[in-house]
Amino acid sequence: MRQSKLFTKTLKHLPKDEASSNAQLLLKGGYIDKLMAGVYSILPLGWAVVNRLEAIIRSELNSIGAQEVFLPALQPKELWSTTGRWETMKDILYTVQQADQEYTLGSTHEEVVVPLMQKFVHSYKDLPVAVYQFQTKFRRELRPKSGILRGREFLMKDQYSFHVSVEDLNRYYDMMKQVYQRIFQQVGLGDVTHLTFASGGAFSKYSHEYQTVTPAGEDTIYICQQCQLAINREIKADTPVCPQCQGQEFIEQRAIEVGNIFKLMAKFTEPFNFMVAGADGKPQPVIMGCYGIGIGRMLGTIVEIHHDAHGIIWPEAVSPYTFHLLNLHNDSVQADQVYTTLQLAGHTVLFDDRAVSAGIKFADADLLGLPIRLVVSPKTQGKIEYRRRVNDTTALVGLDELVKRHVQ
Ligand code: ATP
Ligand code: MG
Repeated sequence: MRQSKLFTKTLKHLPKDEASSNAQLLLKGGYIDKLMAGVYSILPLGWAVVNRLEAIIRSELNSIGAQEVFLPALQPKELWSTTGRWETMKDILYTVQQADQEYTLGSTHEEVVVPLMQKFVHSYKDLPVAVYQFQTKFRRELRPKSGILRGREFLMKDQYSFHVSVEDLNRYYDMMKQVYQRIFQQVGLGDVTHLTFASGGAFSKYSHEYQTVTPAGEDTIYICQQCQLAINREIKADTPVCPQCQGQEFIEQRAIEVGNIFKLMAKFTEPFNFMVAGADGKPQPVIMGCYGIGIGRMLGTIVEIHHDAHGIIWPEAVSPYTFHLLNLHNDSVQADQVYTTLQLAGHTVLFDDRAVSAGIKFADADLLGLPIRLVVSPKTQGKIEYRRRVNDTTALVGLDELVKRHVQ
């Protein structure tokens, strides 16, 4: 991508009405734009990151046989009345009235996915089955804050699994823990994300959160110093010892809940009377689990974890481009050759071909945070200055060597 053609521009100043680092850097870099409180546009650079996050997640979920769908955001009141949530969630739901019909914009999708699966799944032989989607959710968050970490309209990966037995749900739930661990590792959050006991008393075995430790987090967790399992604030009072290893030493940390997993059991299948024929031919209730990851929140969290005073430092696996090529020559002969060669070798390159000062190019490269900065200038004498965004050391390399070093 030629930066001169990118319609977005970096901002000169940090936006005043945003306190969190992730919102400041993403806005300043032109990754996102704010429409109103809690509602953001995702711009080409930001969308490239979202696409990479989704590709990582999609590949992991497809590998365990989960099937991708895209469910409606516009949902009729009747389904929400069936589960009782038209009333219990009325403070959160955005509703739409059209003639004498009422609708809600999906804040979550159990009310859609249960009746959907009920149309197709009739026998225990059809189970287990799991579906997932990447979708926009709408919630009337009272105080949207921290940029895209808590929005009123936001992207989520939600996933629903259906089972005939608790044993099978437990098996799937444990498998999802492994899948989530792999996902968090790949997006650069693995080392700072803790599996967290989510709620008090008997319910704790039904739900876990994935909490990423950062001062920007709005949650407080307690991390067991023996096994690294965490407990969230709501249950810490009743749980003096670690439920996993009986450890007694905890460290208190701020954290962001990037994902969570729930054993919903019959909470939503029962109101819809979702039953299947069992092996003996008799009707048997279906139970379910659900598994969420906030995609926008994950994007913001990666920025919170991976940045410095100058800008973002993308982990390579989620970066919008691998290389940021800065041309400081008066002509573009050498830079064009580097740009074309890298692209032919299968790499993604953002090519700063703009007629702006070297200072602006360097500052923007730090702000945008692509993993590898390449500079060609009269000073590099036919070679290329190579610098990784994570450290300051530069080296001069030839084009052949560069391509060899980065074999796809
Ligand atoms: P929270 O506790 O942060 O309010 P939640 O427990 O209600 O979130 P779920 O409804 O289970 O979350 O949604 C699954 C995931 O979606 C969360 O783990 C989080 O990553 C993301 N998410 C939830 N609410 C928001 C929001 N308002 N803005 C951005 N992402 C969100
Ligand atoms: Mg939560």
